[in-house]
Amino acid sequence: MGLLEAFENDRNTRKHGAWCNMGKLLESLTDDDRQTLIDVMNDPTWTSTRISDVLKSEQGGSHNIGPHVISRHRSKRCQC
Ligand SMILES: [Zn+2]
Repeated sequence: MGLLEAFENDRNTRKHGAWCNMGKLLESLTDDDRQTLIDVMNDPTWTSTRISDVLKSEQGGSHNIGPHVISRHRSKRCQC
């Protein structure tokens, strides 16, 4: 295997194998809910803490994602 191929393989594996919890949540949502959450995360007037609080209050707390995970995902420091 050439190096290029090796790096490409590694990148593909990471992309699909190491999503943060926010990435996993986005994948699990309906298209409408996913778009809503993406819009909210792109809106700087929503703090990550408030987004976290709203998610926790939804659906009996099944979306339990901490503000630090949300802010990391928003600033693209996660591996999604
Ligand atoms: Zn992420």
